[in-house]
Amino acid sequence: VARGGVPALKRVTRMRPSAASGEFSLIESIRGTALTRRDVALGIGDDGAVLRVPRGRELVVVMDTMVEGVHFPRGTAAADIGWKALAVNLSDLAAMGAEPAWATLALTLPQPDATWVRAFARGFAALAKRHGVALVGGDTTRGRLTVTVQAHGFVPLRRALRRDGAHAGDAIFVSGTLGDAAAGLADRKHTALRARLDRPSPRVALGVALRGVASAAIDVSDGLAADLGHVLDASGVGAALDVDALPTSAALRASVPGAARRRALQLGGGDDYELCFTVPTRRVARVAAIAREQRLRLTRIGTIERARGLRDSAGRPLERSGYAHFRRA
Ligand code: ADP
Ligand code: MG
Repeated sequence: VARGGVPALKRVTRMRPSAASGEFSLIESIRGTALTRRDVALGIGDDGAVLRVPRGRELVVVMDTMVEGVHFPRGTAAADIGWKALAVNLSDLAAMGAEPAWATLALTLPQPDATWVRAFARGFAALAKRHGVALVGGDTTRGRLTVTVQAHGFVPLRRALRRDGAHAGDAIFVSGTLGDAAAGLADRKHTALRARLDRPSPRVALGVALRGVASAAIDVSDGLAADLGHVLDASGVGAALDVDALPTSAALRASVPGAARRRALQLGGGDDYELCFTVPTRRVARVAAIAREQRLRLTRIGTIERARGLRDSAGRPLERSGYAHFRRA
């Protein structure tokens, strides 16, 4: 960022000079949790990071922002926020079929709270370690609690999964179970469901395995109907969804006994961070093999059709963006 004359927004919002040493030690405590990788020539501590993209790979870049009270409920534990801020980005990389490598972190805090930052960094680092992600830089400013992460990953040339490759006849699959996070938001005392909201598991290995198998992919962040809708729009197709086949956890079934309410959470709830992907029929058998290898539930939930729009298997139209009131805090 340029110094000198320009009164950049950043100067106004950055931690005040009286807190300068505070900002420094906050960054140091984050830096202490970052793992190192051989492809990081220079990480946290200089004006920029210097990174090496392997030969024959394309760099996939994603970014997601989480604002308190919008993307997570006020009072969410700092460690959970740290985990989730990275998780939602790794989920985007997974949906692209990319292997994660690096991340940067922009942290906006109401005050320089060292205890909060340590817990946040712990949650972030726990997930980063699982996926071998090195935190290589960031920025720290003052303001309403906001966390922005940019993540970087690799795919072999032209092998990224995209939203625009679905064709009529392709089978539609989804990983894991749907609706748990939305139910956890509605019932914050239910620890199993709440864990699905606060600590989503990005399907990184699945995304990589789907390269060359899936014709299109997206991660389910805003609700299955909305996110599958993006695939349909990008691909210029429609779909029939078997709503009775939506994968349902035992916890959700017990906690939300009404089938209609459960279905609403599963179609429109969001925050699942599962992958929804389409597969040409000739490659469908490979999906079962991936499910076995990864011990991950992969459920066929419908079929891509030529006629635009989203409907159930009886042909009744499904609301694509409904149930927004379940979505977030
Ligand atoms: P500059 O003023 O040159 O932008 P900063 O003081 O903002 O530098 O940051 C110093 C170093 O610390 C940089 O390497 C930057 O990437 C890193 N950094 C700052 N904030 C964070 C953060 N929240 N997470 C990770 N690295 C950070
Ligand atoms: Mg900076």
